[in-house]
Amino acid sequence: MRVLVALGGNAMTSPEGSATPEAQRTAIAGAMECVADLVAAGHEVVITHGNGPQVGNLLVKNELAANVVPPVPLDWNGAQTQGTIGFTVMNTLEPALIRRGCPRPTAAVVTRTLVNGDDPGFTHPTKPVGRFLPYEDARPLIEHGQIWEDRGEKGWRRVVASPEPLEVIDTHTVRTLLAAGYVVTAAGGGGIPVVRDADGQLRGVEAVIDKDLTAAILARSLDADVLVIATDVDHAIVGYGTADAQPLGVVTPAQMREYAAAGHFASGSMGPKVEAAVRFVESGGHRSVITSLAHIAEAVTGAYGTCIES
Ligand code: ADP
Ligand code: MG
Repeated sequence: MRVLVALGGNAMTSPEGSATPEAQRTAIAGAMECVADLVAAGHEVVITHGNGPQVGNLLVKNELAANVVPPVPLDWNGAQTQGTIGFTVMNTLEPALIRRGCPRPTAAVVTRTLVNGDDPGFTHPTKPVGRFLPYEDARPLIEHGQIWEDRGEKGWRRVVASPEPLEVIDTHTVRTLLAAGYVVTAAGGGGIPVVRDADGQLRGVEAVIDKDLTAAILARSLDADVLVIATDVDHAIVGYGTADAQPLGVVTPAQMREYAAAGHFASGSMGPKVEAAVRFVESGGHRSVITSLAHIAEAVTGAYGTCIES
């Protein structure tokens, strides 16, 4: 089967949240053991990943150095994290594959995702990113053109657009590499957001894209059989955090939409995963699974996790 695995932030950073390069490398190496099991089981695998904590760290560097080095835009930050995470994935996945007796070439594609320049988020951004700062510290960034909001007691926080992903521009590159036998990493952080100008040129924009929503689009355009959303819980749960919490097994897209409408999946975490998983199947994909990283090999066959199928 052709499988797209979307790795959450929880798979890419250490459990205690340490962001040292060594901690990030160790976390990614652990995730690649699970991905290597999938490849060794005979599946054709594409990897995508989140980049929230990594972009958050780059934003802090921008802030602290703003008076010395001009801050770089979010599309550049996204591209940078695709590079560093993609490189680390390749460097840890290759030996894991060799240890399993199935050496394979790997590649990481710097990937652009098309968004709509008319998205209301570009004129009225609402997605908070980075840390809270006192006004004095936010001011140089506002002077560099960023939009920050007064959030009262906690201080000021930057807000950006979070537009819907429309198309993964570099899908053909991924397809070509898959056909040549590569295990491919693509669309990290949801892809670098670009808009198409009137003259047809692509231009990077200041925005963040939900990585799971992009994963659903990429999985469809690659004709993947299964979209696996790997996070830190074994299942999506109805009544999460209550006394009658119920982990979900095999569910139809329609049933999943009902649970979502009833408010069972938190908007900043499980919500977008469920939305992406449902969209993949509604748009013709065979199966989506939401589960923890350690279970992805069982999950692809529908034997574990929350499995969305029509
Ligand atoms: P990642 O960083 O791996 O992308 P998130 O932290 O964004 O993952 O989302 C996973 C988290 O969603 C879980 O750790 C859990 O705390 C939370 N969550 C919210 N609602 C639910 C739910 N209904 N079922 C399961 N987990 C939920
Ligand atoms: Mg997350």
